[in-house]
Amino acid sequence: MSFSNILGQDKTVKRLRALIESRRIPPAMIFHGAPGTGKFLAAAEFAKALNCSHTEHREKPAAPPPPSDDDLFAAAAPAPAAARELPPAKVHTDLSDSCGSCLSCLQAASGAHPDIRIVDTAFQAALLDEAESANLKIDTMRELTRWAQQKPMLSDWKVFIVRDAEALMPAAQNALLKTLEEPPPGTVVILTVSRKTSLLSTILSRCCLVEFGLLPRAAAKTLLEAQGTGPDDAGALAALGGGSLEKSAEAGSFLKRVSALRPGDPARVFKFSSGLPRDSHKAREEVKTLLDLLLAKTRDRWSSAAGPAKARFTTLLRRTLDLRRMADRNVSYMLLLETALLESEKAGIKLEDLIRTD
Ligand SMILES: [Zn+2]
Repeated sequence: MSFSNILGQDKTVKRLRALIESRRIPPAMIFHGAPGTGKFLAAAEFAKALNCSHTEHREKPAAPPPPSDDDLFAAAAPAPAAARELPPAKVHTDLSDSCGSCLSCLQAASGAHPDIRIVDTAFQAALLDEAESANLKIDTMRELTRWAQQKPMLSDWKVFIVRDAEALMPAAQNALLKTLEEPPPGTVVILTVSRKTSLLSTILSRCCLVEFGLLPRAAAKTLLEAQGTGPDDAGALAALGGGSLEKSAEAGSFLKRVSALRPGDPARVFKFSSGLPRDSHKAREEVKTLLDLLLAKTRDRWSSAAGPAKARFTTLLRRTLDLRRMADRNVSYMLLLETALLESEKAGIKLEDLIRTD
């Protein structure tokens, strides 16, 4: 991977590359934009490019084994040819991107770079030796602050990527504030976040904001194909995702669940909703996506309808909008979904229609 593999974010990538090349790196940055638009990948590429040594990495040839007693009178072994004849290391000349072949790049790509830390809820669970929680805690941010005080081990820069920073509790954000205000030299903290409003204004005002827009459909399709989705499904899922690969993945899971249902089954809506993820945050997000798909489909039908059908779709549109607003509140998302799907089926929009792109 290098910046060239991040598709659909040309303007943003250009800005990041210019920063790397200038070496004037803001110590605190927020990469914000809809889920599944490449924020985390770009942060990882940024960290890799920043720490790249731009010179090809070579394993040093192994030293010859020490002579044993039996070899004392044997002719001295010649030095290994590799040690004498190693061609000069290649130098990567594009200073705005990583080379992909130096020791730093190899370690960054394998997730083992000692100066690049990804801080997320899975990392926190290992750090605090506890079950994974939905929130990033104050103790984790204190640990980050402690690491930030230490010197880098391999490279010039220490980079901390706080992934999905909406998980930061306000107290944890406050614990991070001091590092953002007075960063130790050579430290960069990148927060990736879908909704920047989930961060305190004190955090926002100290960070350089980098926006990630929705992906163009062609870029989303190419990325889905690269992940192994067939070309036809990739086209449909790119359209349904509306520029977010995360929404495309959700639509892919709807597609599978709907195709497993029997067409005339009276309990199909309930069977479909019972397939929501167990994780309540993910399930609520899926319900919102389904309600958005239902709204889009209802608007389509409403705009081409006339007479009594128009009135029917107007009622459904209003009702679905109400349910969509309720999805952001503390209401049973399962009940919301079942109500919305039953009412839309009654108005003539079937479950299958929601994931049809024609
Ligand atoms: Zn490199």
